[in-house]
Amino acid sequence: MSQKKSERPVRHLLGLSGGKDSSALAIYMRDKVPEMEYFFADTGAELPETLEFIDLLEDYLGKEIVKLNADRDFDFYLKLHNNFLPSPQRRWCTINLKLIPFEDYVGEDEVVSYIAIRADEPSRVGYTPTKSNIQTRFPFREDGLGKDDILCILESSGIGIPKYYNWRSRSGCYFCFFQRQEEWLGLKKNHEALFELARQYEKYDEATGKRYTWNQSGSLDEIVARAEKKANQPQKSNSTKSKKLIDNITHDNDDDFCPICML
Ligand code: SF4
Repeated sequence: MSQKKSERPVRHLLGLSGGKDSSALAIYMRDKVPEMEYFFADTGAELPETLEFIDLLEDYLGKEIVKLNADRDFDFYLKLHNNFLPSPQRRWCTINLKLIPFEDYVGEDEVVSYIAIRADEPSRVGYTPTKSNIQTRFPFREDGLGKDDILCILESSGIGIPKYYNWRSRSGCYFCFFQRQEEWLGLKKNHEALFELARQYEKYDEATGKRYTWNQSGSLDEIVARAEKKANQPQKSNSTKSKKLIDNITHDNDDDFCPICML
């Protein structure tokens, strides 16, 4: 006889982005919810540093981090969207490459999904499930933990923070349009081949004069040229020190980025 839906145990799921908050939450919850299932929605366009960090975390957690892949890749969905690159207003990438794979993974099971929004992010909304069988919990908010606590969890575990924080403030696809000017420059310096791939997605339609770029303020070449110019300007006396990993984390503005991809 088939098992009734209500008799199936509730699943506890924690999604990792390769960012500091979800990683810290996984460490924080490891012993609190031993039956936790960890997953990572891999867009196929992740930074090598992110994948390396996910592997490290998997060793620490002592449990598989299930990789969720969309049925089709970014290029397929790009074509489906008439070659319009995604943007903060048209975030079809998040829906197709992250949310749908997650909701497919859940299926009809009763699920508690643990979200890494911190207590010091009162206005952040994050993922809102579209299925009634998915309940959400926010342990950092419930326990009043903020950014300093998260950094402390990562440091004291020995895991530390992902290496991309040297030049970028968030996880996410290498071509993510949420990147700031200096982060595009960071991509060019640290992963020139990936920068070149991102650049190749940009198009100029000679017939209409329309440009298809990742950022409304210009093409990647223009953005990087501006970032280089800014970097070469003489620094004011109190900002002459080169930026460190921790600066990239503590100076970020959490509202500027994707609330789902980069927790
Ligand atoms: S990281 Fe950026 S580009 Fe990638 S799915 Fe999320 S919003 Fe889209």
